[in-house]
Amino acid sequence: MKFSELDLKTEILEALAKMGYQDLTPIQEKTFSPIISGRDLLARAETGSGKTAACGIPLAQMIDPSLNAIQALILVPTRELALQYVEEIDRIGKLAGVVPFAIFGGFSMEIQKAKLRDRVHLLVATPGRLIDFLYNTTEIDLSNVRTLVVDEADEMLKMGFIEDIDFIMSSLIHEHQTLFFAATMPNEIDRLINDYLKEPVRIELNKEQVAPQSLVHHFQYTERRDRLNALIQYLEREKISQALIFCNSRHHGEKLTKELEKRFKSIGYIHGGLEQSKRTSIFERFRQKRIELMVATDLAGRGLDFSHVSHVINYDYPFGVESYTHRTGRTGRMGRSGIAMTFVTDQELGVVKSLLKANRIDPVWHGNIPNLRAAHTPFGKRDGKKFFKKRFQPAPKAKLYQVAEMIPTPLSS
Ligand code: ADP
Ligand code: MG
Repeated sequence: MKFSELDLKTEILEALAKMGYQDLTPIQEKTFSPIISGRDLLARAETGSGKTAACGIPLAQMIDPSLNAIQALILVPTRELALQYVEEIDRIGKLAGVVPFAIFGGFSMEIQKAKLRDRVHLLVATPGRLIDFLYNTTEIDLSNVRTLVVDEADEMLKMGFIEDIDFIMSSLIHEHQTLFFAATMPNEIDRLINDYLKEPVRIELNKEQVAPQSLVHHFQYTERRDRLNALIQYLEREKISQALIFCNSRHHGEKLTKELEKRFKSIGYIHGGLEQSKRTSIFERFRQKRIELMVATDLAGRGLDFSHVSHVINYDYPFGVESYTHRTGRTGRMGRSGIAMTFVTDQELGVVKSLLKANRIDPVWHGNIPNLRAAHTPFGKRDGKKFFKKRFQPAPKAKLYQVAEMIPTPLSS
């Protein structure tokens, strides 16, 4: 279906055409009429499916620009996501006179206050900062909010925002519609849904297909001490336009960044401990393609649109299948092709085995292919160091990898 077939304000249609949006994505097609007709909604769709515009377009349509009041409230888990949301809504609604604005922690409340006093139709907020405003200021009046959106609801729960969301939802006492978006639906969401959603329309896309399809999943089996070299060789031989390289801890990310800086130009490092201004500027430089390789902790994995990224590299193996999906979902979006590369050591063979099975991944192995059949599937949750028993079977000797220019990495030096 084309946007031009929808009954939208001409300014919005014009904006969408300028953005190059012609056809609705499947999630946009399914959510448009329930949102416009004021229904509550529970939508589950994979990352990169276009959830921001799925919300942003009907919201921009419904907002009355002549009413100077917050008419839509959108909760997101991170500041970067808030900025990205505002940017997308701004592109969609600017010509129609819709003013979006984001509030988030780590940034002067005074400046945010001034803007709020002026004119905001659509407020995007991280839960903590919004509660700060609601408790301590009189700047935010939510009495005209017609639509509440909870984006990346599953991520917010994981980050411990459930009580904050509960509080915010409970403070919207007048008639309004509530839209829940998430890539996965953990059980804890059910309680919020039961308490606050009225006969929601449930939309579920690609339940089976967890990992985005346009993504090729590469893996390289290496010993832990050879991993850095394996990564460097990989970065040197691959045609990378931009890569996100994930580490599991800040300390580890820092070490890796230092190592990579010795060999490559244009490295960035983004993590939760950075000051807001620094984070925003690194993020912006990356988006403008002035940074080629971005080392990141999981912070950057949450919902951000890095759709231009050609490679997502798991230098540290992610904790859990969901985290793998979230990280690798940063590339291969909207039918663009992307490559996920994951470094695997002996410790992770069991989890890799479950990952491949759960996500029906057809892996492309670089170098030696480990013996996954002999790997134990881990029991329970992985808790950092303690894991499952080390295997004793040696890995079988290398099979040839499909790509000719591949330089095999020596397993030990
Ligand atoms: P999600 O929130 O589901 O992870 P996003 O809303 O970030 O996904 O969208 C992913 C990418 O798809 C963005 O780059 C966005 O600009 C693009 N996009 C969204 N809708 C459309 C559309 N209808 N046509 C073309 N591109 C789109
Ligand atoms: Mg999103």
